[in-house]
Amino acid sequence: MMPVRVLAVASEVYPIVKTGGLADVAGALPMALKAHGVEMRTLMPGYPDVMRHLAGAGEVRRWPDYFGGPGRLLAGAHDGLDLFVLDVPHLYARPGNPYVTAEGLDWPDNGVRFAALSRVAADIGHGLVPAFVPDVVHAHDWQAGLAPAYLHYDNAPRPGTVMTIHNMAYQGKFAPELAGAIGLPRDAAFDVHGLEFFGGISFLKAGLQLADRITTVSPTYAREIQSDEGGMGLGGLLRERANVLSGILNGIDVSVWNPRTDPHIAYRFGADELSFRSANKAALQHRLGLDPRPHAFLLGVISRLSWQKGLDLLLEAMPVILGDGMQLALLGSGDADLQDRYQAAARAHPGRIAAVIGYDEALAHLIQAGSDALLVPSRFEPCGLTQLCALRYGAVPIVSRVGGLADTVDDAGEAGSAATGFTFGPVTPENLSAALERASFAFHDKPAWRALQLAGLATDVSWRNRAGEYAALYRDLMVSRRG
Ligand code: ADP
Repeated sequence: MMPVRVLAVASEVYPIVKTGGLADVAGALPMALKAHGVEMRTLMPGYPDVMRHLAGAGEVRRWPDYFGGPGRLLAGAHDGLDLFVLDVPHLYARPGNPYVTAEGLDWPDNGVRFAALSRVAADIGHGLVPAFVPDVVHAHDWQAGLAPAYLHYDNAPRPGTVMTIHNMAYQGKFAPELAGAIGLPRDAAFDVHGLEFFGGISFLKAGLQLADRITTVSPTYAREIQSDEGGMGLGGLLRERANVLSGILNGIDVSVWNPRTDPHIAYRFGADELSFRSANKAALQHRLGLDPRPHAFLLGVISRLSWQKGLDLLLEAMPVILGDGMQLALLGSGDADLQDRYQAAARAHPGRIAAVIGYDEALAHLIQAGSDALLVPSRFEPCGLTQLCALRYGAVPIVSRVGGLADTVDDAGEAGSAATGFTFGPVTPENLSAALERASFAFHDKPAWRALQLAGLATDVSWRNRAGEYAALYRDLMVSRRG
């Protein structure tokens, strides 16, 4: 097998910094790729959490003035990940969320912060670190979107480039004047085949326009984003570039998400011990102050609280939950309005509805292990990871039929498939309510429910095969660039 060297560029990497699914992917993919002969190193910004984890890292390069202040490139390793870290304190030494201030506003210099990351990615692509000269630079999301752009405009021999979209809704839009300030040709800011996007510039658009290949995280999302609505302004570009666009489903790290060994759950269990889930259900009910009712249909939600995730629709479906004797355990954070409304629902219906506002990795595991069904009613969902964890933990997924949700959950009503859950569409409160009622009915048919759970547990949600698709893409790209 021809070895391939790939530089991944990501603004968050699990287990060091995570705000969502991108971190999970960036953290798990390098390990899974090793089996496919791909040597991957990941470049990320030196946020305080990163610097803490990289005590032993070595300095590869130092600049007295990197985008307005001193900077260094470090090479190190953490938890099996080989990392390059861009340590530029005036850009990254800020506590909390990587993208927003304590007040929840975008940092005003985000354009410069992530241009700096992409600039060094391109330089590594050109051979800045002789010990690691990549064949391919793989940029994740808008924060890395300028890496293919710098490589394109540098006008020098360069590695192949891949741009991966984890969420079309985040496009990295800035004023056109920024282009000159971050060392890109000013003309590119006004070029529809360059950075230009509705009168401004967009880092994501730049990456999609100028990378050799584009991927996104499920085949259905790859189709959806070619429409005007799903493309969020970039549908036309993606239709034009459809021949280099593909969808590769995400996997999950099956050693982190393993109900046989999970340190965060009350009782560990395997496929032949599903009855032990009841102990996790009791622990979850106890922890969240839900009534200790073993036969109540307990729904779990683990999610960012944003319009995308459709959780306002679930509030509208509350009469079904309450009328049918179901319980709800929600863990999430995000929009203040949704946080307030869920907390109000929990106060109004103690013992039936529980809402934990915050980010809690351990509780997320217990919800997967203890709830009967996991609900993901997203309006759009590039891939979605929580339903994959749910399949592995015997929590039957109830999901909207969009994006990666449609690709990973087979509806119990469809003939001929090994059903793993319940799907509904279009995404309306009525259709969500109907899906909840269908699921609740099925829940009380124990053998049928167990069949759903077992089909879920038998589903391959690991990275093994999906990593192979990335490896094939990198090789294909190398061959076509050489040819
Ligand atoms: P997105 O990236 O759009 O937020 P995904 O489903 O792709 O959605 O990934 C979300 C990841 O973040 C999952 O691993 C999920 O378990 C985790 N997660 C989301 N919200 C929380 C939370 N409040 N507490 C703990 N984990 C969370």
